Amino acid sequence: MNPWLIEGPAAALLAAAGITAYGAVYPRSQIFGPAIWRTNSPRKLTLTFDDGPNPSTTPKLLDLLDRYNAKATFFLIGRFVRECPDLVKETAARGHAVGNHTETHPNLLWSSPTQVRIELRLCQDAIRNALGSPPKWFRPPYGKRNPWVIPIARELGYRAAMWTLLPGDWREKPAEWLIPRLQPIADRVVKSSKRDSDSRGGWGDVLCLHDGSHRGLNGDRTRTLAALEHWLPRWRDLGLEFVTLDEAVRTPAL
Ligand SMILES: [Zn+2]
Repeated sequence: MNPWLIEGPAAALLAAAGITAYGAVYPRSQIFGPAIWRTNSPRKLTLTFDDGPNPSTTPKLLDLLDRYNAKATFFLIGRFVRECPDLVKETAARGHAVGNHTETHPNLLWSSPTQVRIELRLCQDAIRNALGSPPKWFRPPYGKRNPWVIPIARELGYRAAMWTLLPGDWREKPAEWLIPRLQPIADRVVKSSKRDSDSRGGWGDVLCLHDGSHRGLNGDRTRTLAALEHWLPRWRDLGLEFVTLDEAVRTPAL
């Protein structure tokens, strides 16, 4: 049964279609539950990679991140974790955070509470089997939420994470197309250092890229790697620190 048709509050929300659409897809929306979408300092950049693990890309990406001492957060698809548990272990062993991106990458906007729970639990089991402990972060596929996605994730112990920048690296375009779409990150750093030299009170970006493809293992992510080869040294030279989501929301000790 489609729960949209039976839930009273959901029906009321549907009547306010504009608000519902905003709550369901706008990455900064908190209408359907709290979600982290930025870091707590303009000096902190959080790189996130969705839809892996991907044997054709993730190992190269891990080496590239190591070169810049960059720690990232990987939102993994459960069915791929089951196929490549060693790659997930390697990712965590190199200091990166991993998160739950569901078992099969459905659009949760149209999923019932039971379906949402199953998708999250299966992925959680896959990651726990690979790493020995469950992940703490969750990102809904396509960023799509309905009124029960985040409450269920929280009930299972997760914090939800969205993004400030989604450059569309899954599109079949050359790296020359992708590289300028990451420009807003550098622009924000330059603007924030002009505005406030000690950078207090501002926020930094959470970038959403993809090291895998939800359609299957071994998706081609050459353009994503090329764009990072271009930007990582430039971001480092601007003084950005590459931190996991845990670090992105941690307040420094005074
Ligand atoms: Zn995804």
